[in-house]
Amino acid sequence: MRVAIIGGGIAGLAAAYELELARRAGAPVEYDLFEAAPRLGGVISSSHVDGTVIERGPDSFLTEKPAAAQLCRELGLESQLVPSNDAERKTFILVRNRLVALPDGLMFLVPTKLLPTALTPLFSWLTKIRMGFELLHPPRPHTGDESVAALVRRHYGQQSVDRLADPLLSGIYGGDAAQLSAQAVLPRMVEMETKYGSLTRGMLAGMRARKAAEARKAAEAEENEREASAPRPLFTTLRFGLQQIVDGLVGRLDTQRLHLDTPVAGVERDSESGGWLVDVAGVVERFDGVVVATPAWAAAQVLEPVDRELSGELEQIPYSSSVTINLVFDGADLDPLPEGFGFLVPAVEKRAMLACTFLHRKFPGRTAPGKSVLRAFLGGAHNAGLLAESDEALAGLVRKELFEILTISAVPELIEVQRWPRAMAQYSVGHGERQRRIKDRVDALPGLHLAGNAYDGIGISDCIRLGRGAAQHLLSATPQAAPATIQSRR
Ligand SMILES: Cc1cc2nc3c(=O)[nH]c(=O)nc-3n(C[C@H](O)[C@H](O)[C@H](O)COP(=O)(O)OP(=O)(O)OC[C@H]3O[C@@H](n4cnc5c(N)ncnc54)[C@H](O)[C@@H]3O)c2cc1C
Repeated sequence: MRVAIIGGGIAGLAAAYELELARRAGAPVEYDLFEAAPRLGGVISSSHVDGTVIERGPDSFLTEKPAAAQLCRELGLESQLVPSNDAERKTFILVRNRLVALPDGLMFLVPTKLLPTALTPLFSWLTKIRMGFELLHPPRPHTGDESVAALVRRHYGQQSVDRLADPLLSGIYGGDAAQLSAQAVLPRMVEMETKYGSLTRGMLAGMRARKAAEARKAAEAEENEREASAPRPLFTTLRFGLQQIVDGLVGRLDTQRLHLDTPVAGVERDSESGGWLVDVAGVVERFDGVVVATPAWAAAQVLEPVDRELSGELEQIPYSSSVTINLVFDGADLDPLPEGFGFLVPAVEKRAMLACTFLHRKFPGRTAPGKSVLRAFLGGAHNAGLLAESDEALAGLVRKELFEILTISAVPELIEVQRWPRAMAQYSVGHGERQRRIKDRVDALPGLHLAGNAYDGIGISDCIRLGRGAAQHLLSATPQAAPATIQSRR
């Protein structure tokens, strides 16, 4: 079986890795990975400068989702895994130019502790009273998808949308709470609303169940005289940057089969053999299977000759664009920096920055001694126009805002600006329905699979799971080997 993988981000690389494992185990499979850019890894890109790790794209993955850590272990990177420094985890929200800490007991968007919620200056008394009455919400049948903003507003009011939902979601998705789908982004909360009515009561019930399960597990571990497992960190990264996963994968693959600077123009069905014809710069090659691991808007172009309707659905998945700016300082210049991992900026504050992470705090040990790294995140659904600004203008804007918010006037020793145009899929209202339509159409095209952040999870672990899953599907289908042919269209 010969497989084409289109796109060499983490999803495409994970698909190639899965096929390589099968090949080494003796399966009759070959692959070619085509990547439009001159490098592999897609938005994962890190480097180190004088002992300090610079992450231009993602900085870590959620520990709760196992695929990334599992892959790291398989790649021999277990000793390189670095947990987030959760003892110092504290996040601030910018409210009228003041940093206000997220109150204790806040579980993502849901307040679960009375006193910290009552005392926080993050919300007005009106919002706090509303949060109290939220406990009385009766169960509500699910009547269709709606925006995250609509769900949160119904429970906790508009201020909770402005000061909580919007900044948290733009910090994760570069997204807009008024556009993002509650069903796709907060499925657990939609479930809680149906079962409990009140999200707070639902969250508390979930916490009680988790605690009971943990206690049971600890008791079992004690019985088995095993050490009780240590609490998991919220985030995990790699000692020398996430690029280590990309390098680890590339090191396991057959480099002859990785084609850089090689965009795929289109794919067509080979009606004679039931296989696939892949157009690589005018040269058409035949494959038995195809994994399209590009962003959905690129997949729409590539698959247009195969299925117009599928292409139209893919084209409609919105994407946000963003900019990351890493600023390396002499640590002493930043004293006193607020404690914690950083801050989020609500859109209502009308700033360029969406978030700023204190990376030397979040992951100590990845920064040269005495240095501090602040990483600003800009753009997103509210402010995509920023990508057109020059590096100097963007750096100037961030330094101005850091001065206004944190009174930092020191000159950074290094500034690195990175743009990510149309990189982050937005699961907008109706995403679930669109996914089902896409799946139905793809299921009708044997040997074709989609992977990447547009479908069933935006994070690194999700993309690894989807890439490996696509390859596993191909491997489990009956192999229909046919000789590789190359035809020229020119
Ligand atoms: C700034 C930023 C910060 C993030 N932070 C985090 C984080 O901290 N934690 C986390 O878990 N996730 C984070 N994410 C999300 C996560 O990193 C991405 O969703 C994931 O890496 C996407 O992987 P992918 O393989 O689907 O796509 P990509 O990385 O976008 O790769 C797709 C590849 O396809 C190639 N391509 C496109 N068209 C063609 C074509 N026609 N032919 C051949 N190749 C083509 C592209 O060049 C690209 O290399 C972040 C994302 C961004 C942008």
